[in-house]
Order: sequence, then C-alpha cells, then structure tokens
Amino acid sequence: MEKTELKQRFEEIFGRPSEAEFFSPGRINLIGEHTDYNGGHVFPCAITLGTYGAAAKRDDQTLHFYSENFADEGIIEVPLADLHFDKADKWTNYPKGMIHFLKKAGHKIDTGMDVYVNGNIPNGSGLSSSASLELLMGVIAQHLFDLDLERLDLVKIGMKTENDFIGVNSGIMDQFAVGMGQANKAILLDTNTLKYDLVPLDLKDNVIVIMNTNKRRELADSKYNERRSECETALEELNTKLAAKSLGALDEQTFDEYSYLIADEDRLKRARHAVWENQRTLQAREALQAEDLEKFGRLVNASHVSLEHDYEVTGKELDTLAHTAWQQPGVLGARMTGAGFGGCGIAIVNKADVEAFKENVGKVYEEKIGYAPAFYIAEIADGTKKL
Ligand code: ADP
Ligand code: MG
Repeated sequence: MEKTELKQRFEEIFGRPSEAEFFSPGRINLIGEHTDYNGGHVFPCAITLGTYGAAAKRDDQTLHFYSENFADEGIIEVPLADLHFDKADKWTNYPKGMIHFLKKAGHKIDTGMDVYVNGNIPNGSGLSSSASLELLMGVIAQHLFDLDLERLDLVKIGMKTENDFIGVNSGIMDQFAVGMGQANKAILLDTNTLKYDLVPLDLKDNVIVIMNTNKRRELADSKYNERRSECETALEELNTKLAAKSLGALDEQTFDEYSYLIADEDRLKRARHAVWENQRTLQAREALQAEDLEKFGRLVNASHVSLEHDYEVTGKELDTLAHTAWQQPGVLGARMTGAGFGGCGIAIVNKADVEAFKENVGKVYEEKIGYAPAFYIAEIADGTKKL
C-alpha cells in the first residue's frame, strides 16, 4: 500500500490529516517450530505481507480505531482511562493491550489517538497478523508520544499483550521476528537468552513460496496449551536425573539416554521433537552459512516430518501441501510454518519451477481437501517501521 493512499484513507475516515504512517510485517519461520516456549532456537524472518497504519493524536481522552479489514465494525471507540479486555471491542483488544501495558510500564500516553489500520496478511493463518498489529500499535505510540523505548521493550510488551491481555499462551518468536526483522536476513534467535544473529538469506535461484491451507487454525489454542504442558511435564521427568533449564538445553544424545524417564509415549514424542528440532535449527543456520541449500532443504523437510509424527500439530491439509510439494521438480524443501493445525506452509522452490509448482500442488490439494489453497511469494522485509 502506498503512503499517499494510506494518508488519503485516514483523512476519509477521520476527517483530518494523519501525523505519521507506518508498516509492520508478518513473519514466516524457516525452521525451529514449537521450540520458542521450550527454550530452543527459532529461525524466522519478517515478510513484505504486513499491516499498514496511520495515526494522529486527539485532543480528548478516547482512542478511535478503524481497520479496513473489519470495515463493518466502523470506528471503535475506547476510553484511554479504562483499557481492559472486552470481547465487544473485537480486534481493538490487540492495540488496547499494547497501550495498556505501555502505560503500566510508566510511559506517558496522555491523550487519545485516531488509528487507521489496513493489513494484507491473511488473518489466523499462521503468518502472525496479531504480532504485526501489536508492534504496529507499539511503534505508533512510541512515535506520537516520543516514548523512550528500545525495540526489544516493544517486542516484550507485544508478547505480554498476547499472553496476558488476549490470553494466548504463545512464545516470543512472533513479536521478535516482526519487531527485529531486516530485509533479506533471517533471525536465529536463542529464546532462552534472547541472543540473536541476523543471518543473510541468500537462496540463489530459489524463492520461498507461502502455501496457505485456507483452513483456520481451529482448536489451535487448546492443543497449543496441551503441547506446552506435555513438554513441561517431560522436562520435570528428565530433571529427576538431569538439571536442564529447558528442553532446548539438551542435545540429542543426552535426551535419548535419559528419555526412559518420561513415562508416557506421547510426552516422549513431544519432548523429542523439541530437542531434535532445536538441533536441526542450529544445523540449518550452518547449512545456510556454508551455502549448502540442499542440506538446508533436507532439514526443513525433517522438521515437517517431526511436527507431523512426533509433535502431531500438522493435520491433513498441511500434510497434503508438504507431501505434494516434496514431489515437485525444483523444490529444495517444504514444511508447515507457525503453530500448525491449519494455517500456512512454506516451500523453497526454484524460480523457474514456481508456476508449475503452484498449479500442481494446487490441483492435488483441491482434489484431496475439497477447496483451493493460496500461494504467495515471501519477500523478506524490515521489521516494523515508520514510512
Ligand atoms: P495470526 O496471528 O496467525 O494471523 P491470530 O488469531 O493470532 O492469527 O490473530 C488474528 C487477529 O488479529 C484477527 O482476528 C484480528 O483480531 C487481529 N488482526 C490482525 N490483522 C488485523 C488488521 N489488519 N485489522 C484488524 N485486526 C487485525
Ligand atoms: Mg497470532
């Protein structure tokens, strides 16, 4: 979306000019899935699909929100003095949460705002439109009120909003990728220490194709919480003999040696995924740095297999996409991305083969699942910024 169009829409909605315009990306995760709440590594990047925003301060004490994506709701008004989660306020709970926690941290937000939002990330499909919106609101507030904040502070407030305001028990990956991303770089993040490396992402003649199952992630939240607690229990069982800070702190050998301590077969599988996926993620960074894209692709495939059989968070839609992608010419690797249970997958595909890829995978998917998937090319973008 062009900045001029953004300014124009703001003015049409609010009847006065905006003060500033912003963009906040979505994200994909290359590898390292369901490792972020297990103290392991993740390897996401910000993408050019994202959320645009325009804003201006008001003279009064109310927040006025409008999203082009929820135009039916019209302008939603909320008093600045009373920011609590309210289902009736719909999508505005995300920006409300951000402002609530910014104020709570002592930042001075002393007037209302008009906030216009327009996103092109398919919502609820695992590309993190919620983190995109959170960081957008954070950066808008930082800019309009000249708040003294590090980017990492906003990332943490984004996660707090998701966890404690919205009530989704997710890790820090999404907000980190959205807030800290850089064009053409992937972020290798150690979720235990929050140390990170920006790794140049040179895929040579290949592009990343995002494959959307077009299935909403129903059940995702309850299953997500179930996986979290399975991993926590497995760690406690291991720690009757070990002293591991997290599953991410274990290597494969140590895990295999002590895995007899885990009393339940499902729990063993969940924990094995967390441990091995973390190690795969570290190997994937090395493969990228060594320009061994074939190896990188094999690790991506292995990640899907583990998410399918050990972590069991894929489902027939994501499996159909990944399995069909593996059979296509010019494909280095393919896997689900994000929390799973629907949402999106990614495939690394030779540019020359992309059109045939979309056609073939689309056809097989539609025959098997009954409706069409969608495909987008992921360009790797900067984190949330003022335009
Ligand atoms: P995901 O983060 O995977 O896209 P979530 O369910 O976590 O899915 O977040 C989606 C929700 O975030 C939407 O239902 C909506 O409330 C909010 N949201 C995301 N993008 C926008 C937008 N452009 N305008 C308004 N709300 C949005
Ligand atoms: Mg989300």
